[in-house]
Amino acid sequence: MKLRTCPSCGSANIKLYMGGQLGIQYKCETCGYIGALIIEQDVEKKFLRGRKK
Ligand SMILES: [Zn+2]
Repeated sequence: MKLRTCPSCGSANIKLYMGGQLGIQYKCETCGYIGALIIEQDVEKKFLRGRKK
């Protein structure tokens, strides 16, 4: 499972934002960032294992 996070504020509240001729872009609902660059994190293991300290 991939979690898309904002490169600006780190929020995971990312929505697809169709940029027309620019192609697919993403919009951060938290800080308003719009761009094709987002950070994808593989969070599957974290979710399965939970917080283990
Ligand atoms: Zn953001």
